[in-house]
Formats: sequence, structure tokens, C-alpha cells
Amino acid sequence: MSEEPSQEDLAERKMRFLFALRSKGVTDARTLSAMEEIDRGRFVRGLFADRAYEDMPLPIACGQTISQPSVVGLMTQALQAGPRDTVLEIGTGSGYQAAILSQLARRVYTVDRHRRLVREAEAVFTVLALPNIVAIAGDGSRGLPDQAPFDRIIVTAAAEDPPGPLLAQLKIGGIMVLPVGQSDTVQSLIRVRRLETGFDYEELRPVRFVPLVEGMASD
Ligand code: SAH
Repeated sequence: MSEEPSQEDLAERKMRFLFALRSKGVTDARTLSAMEEIDRGRFVRGLFADRAYEDMPLPIACGQTISQPSVVGLMTQALQAGPRDTVLEIGTGSGYQAAILSQLARRVYTVDRHRRLVREAEAVFTVLALPNIVAIAGDGSRGLPDQAPFDRIIVTAAAEDPPGPLLAQLKIGGIMVLPVGQSDTVQSLIRVRRLETGFDYEELRPVRFVPLVEGMASD
């Protein structure tokens, strides 16, 4: 039988968690305090809950994964979301990334093709009282035309190229962060800025994400 971790263990785990983030290059103060505030343990269930504070991706329902915390941190800081921004996230998954962004932006729309993941993430947002997140079941490769344009867009599943509808739904001056590349190889995390005259692309680092799949899932 496992014992409940004491307050001291939790505080120590949290300190180690934040230390690991810093050592992997997550240095932005707003990102770090959002990640200190939002408990990753709430988004991981069952067998793996014990490993929520380790810097590794973990399995969630529907054969998907919650990203590695340092990658969540690096993507969040690259996005540079401010308190007046409206953010679109494609790939709700567990809801962890959306919850972090809810601390930094005015409003977060998050879309997943698995209805079950959207439902479960919404339940966690309610428990944590995060009313500025709107979770929607849909095919995120089309974006969210009804709410567009967005100040910031983050995609947490890999497409071969930035999807055209998402580029079109980014405001001028806006930033999109996403992994691109074939799904079974190493992909590149890129940052796209929309300028008056076109788009500026910047390669940030190698990453590995589940693929962006078109259309709704059956569950
Ligand atoms: N951001 C998540 C991790 C995402 S895993 C977290 O913090 O836990 C990638 C997610 O992208 C999966 O849940 C998968 O269902 C979703 N996904 C893949 N293709 C999609 C699409 N076309 N539209 C919406 N979601 C998609």
C-alpha cells in the first residue's frame, strides 16, 4: 500500500520540478510561476500519477500523451502570451498546457478531436476554477474560424507543415508555436510570426509529438 506523500515531500518534489525546468532552459518568470501554480498531478491519472513531477511525457486516455514539462515550458515561453491575448491551442490532451496558458492570457480556446479528452479536461478546469478556458471537440487542423483571429496559436501535435487555416487565423503581429515534420521521426519546434507582409519562420529545437490527425476521432 502506498502512503500519502507528506507536505514536505510535496514541497521538495515541486522544488525539484522547478529546478529541472530551469536547467532545461525554462527561464521566463511568468512561465515558471504559472507552472508552479498549476499542479501537473491533476492531469495524470492511474498508474502514472506518481511520476507527474518527473520531466517525462506520460500516457493519457485515447492513446495520447501529456507532453514533457520542460517542453510545455519551452513552448509556453516561446509563445510570449500576454494578459490581453486570446490564445488558440490545438490538441487539448490532458488539458495541462491549456491550464498553464490560462494563467498568462485573457482567454484560451482549446480544441481536441477526442470528445472524451475534452470532457475530462473540462472537468479538471472546473475543479481548478479556471473559467477563462473554453474546450471544444473539433478538428483543430481547421482552426476555430468562429473565434478567429487569434493573438497566439499553439499546436501540440505535429503536422508536416503549418496548416493553412491556422496561419490564416493568426493576427498580424501574432505568434504561432508548433512542431512540424513526419510523425515517426524527430520533428522541429518552430515559431511563426505573422508580419504585415507575410510570415517569419524560426526553428527552435528538435521535439517529438504525436501526429496531428485530420477529422474527428470516434471517442
Ligand atoms: N497539450 C496536451 C498534449 C497533447 S497530445 C497536454 O497538455 O496534455 C496531442 C493531442 O492532439 C491529442 O490529444 C490528440 O487527440 C490531439 N489532436 C491530434 N490531431 C488533432 C486535430 N486535428 N484536431 C484536434 N486535436 C488533435
